[in-house]
Amino acid sequence: MNERPNSLHASDIAHSMHPYTNMRAHEEKGPMIMTRGDGIRVYDIDGKEYIEALAGLWSVAVGFSETRLADVAYEQLKKLPYYHSFAHKAHEPSIRLAEKLVEMTPEGLNRVFFTNSGSEANDTVIKMVWFLNNALGRTGKKKFLSRNKAYHGITIASGSLTGLPANHKDFDLPAIPVTHLTTPHYWRFANEGETEAEFTARLLKELEDTIEAEGADTIAAFIGEPVMGAGGVMVPPEGYWPGVAEICRKNDILLVSDEVINGFGRLGTPFGCEKFGFTPDILVTSKQLTSSYMPLAAIMVSDEVYNTIADHTAKLGTFGHGFTGSGHPVACAVGLENLNIIEEQDLMGNAARLEKPFQDGLRKFADHPLVGEVRGVGLIAGVELVKDKATKEAFAPAGSMAAKVAALAAEEGLICRNVYETVALCPPLILTEADVTEIHARLGRALDRALEWAK
Ligand code: PLP
Repeated sequence: MNERPNSLHASDIAHSMHPYTNMRAHEEKGPMIMTRGDGIRVYDIDGKEYIEALAGLWSVAVGFSETRLADVAYEQLKKLPYYHSFAHKAHEPSIRLAEKLVEMTPEGLNRVFFTNSGSEANDTVIKMVWFLNNALGRTGKKKFLSRNKAYHGITIASGSLTGLPANHKDFDLPAIPVTHLTTPHYWRFANEGETEAEFTARLLKELEDTIEAEGADTIAAFIGEPVMGAGGVMVPPEGYWPGVAEICRKNDILLVSDEVINGFGRLGTPFGCEKFGFTPDILVTSKQLTSSYMPLAAIMVSDEVYNTIADHTAKLGTFGHGFTGSGHPVACAVGLENLNIIEEQDLMGNAARLEKPFQDGLRKFADHPLVGEVRGVGLIAGVELVKDKATKEAFAPAGSMAAKVAALAAEEGLICRNVYETVALCPPLILTEADVTEIHARLGRALDRALEWAK
């Protein structure tokens, strides 16, 4: 990797520590340096073009060259580049964005708290829920229920909710009381001969049994992504979410919908809870909220949650929580403009309209010798690779074939993400039907080349 001794490549290898990266492999391989974006495409330092079929990190809804977002950021930077919202301070961008979010999200979620990231948002949710139960005198009601393969972030608390081995191992997590339940993924986790309805019933019974064993008075909340994203794009079985919601309601357990990936039209409906027919007490959004042009996340809570917390702040004198960047004016201005663009260009409708061609074209890969399952909804999908289609045995070492397919796809000009055994796709919502065809073509070539390589 000394081909470019005075280059950005060399500097990156010498000085940077990359997230989610094998650092020793990086010293050998070097970085893939992106220099510009245009619509759904990005270009690397050598001028090579890629379709960004993961929208960055599941997030760039409006594409990589939306000048309206650059313009509002510049205007806000000139007018009031920073202000906070501690202790009764406020500014127009965060007020307007909160108002917009209340208007866009399902009925009953009428209060918004801003953070800088999804992880901080879920940390904040944990603290809000603990604060709330302490306010109600339910001091033992603190545990969270999550699922294996869930992704809720990487801070000490949100990383504990995450249910992926790499996020726990040697980080001493989980560090808060959390129980991870079975991943609601029928194809991978159903028992021999079990129907989808039986699988759903088994998972709901597991939830009820867990609550019974641990005691409803010890469990504060259930958190879940409507469609699980970063764990490998898992679509829940029919009836799962309404069942979970009912059990939570019956046991006075708060339901948190983590819509950091699902929110703002990704599934073809505005929010994932609407797709699956449940009403959360708390809804978490980020990513497509600003199309990731600025870091921002928003927690929406029900009136009931708000009122309990608000009463307790009156008793204690404050809500002792908040970030310097909570509701940053530039991030909020960008978020508001981004949501306006999503509405004006009907990008949520576009996702719904393109769902069929996008998903149908991917389903054709189900016959490919490397593919075990193709799954997805709206404009998010996962292609899970197997060594043996009949037994569903994965390739060894774990994740190696998905990594190979993602690498070959990049050579073909398609960026997707390998998550464990799955190749994930989650393109910008500004996608066209021609783009869909091109994504399928590039992915198909990568799969065929991977098959040749495996022989
Ligand atoms: N929740 C979900 C569902 C996510 O997908 C992610 C990130 O991918 C997070 C939370 C954490 O967000 P962040 O990376 O902004 O901390």
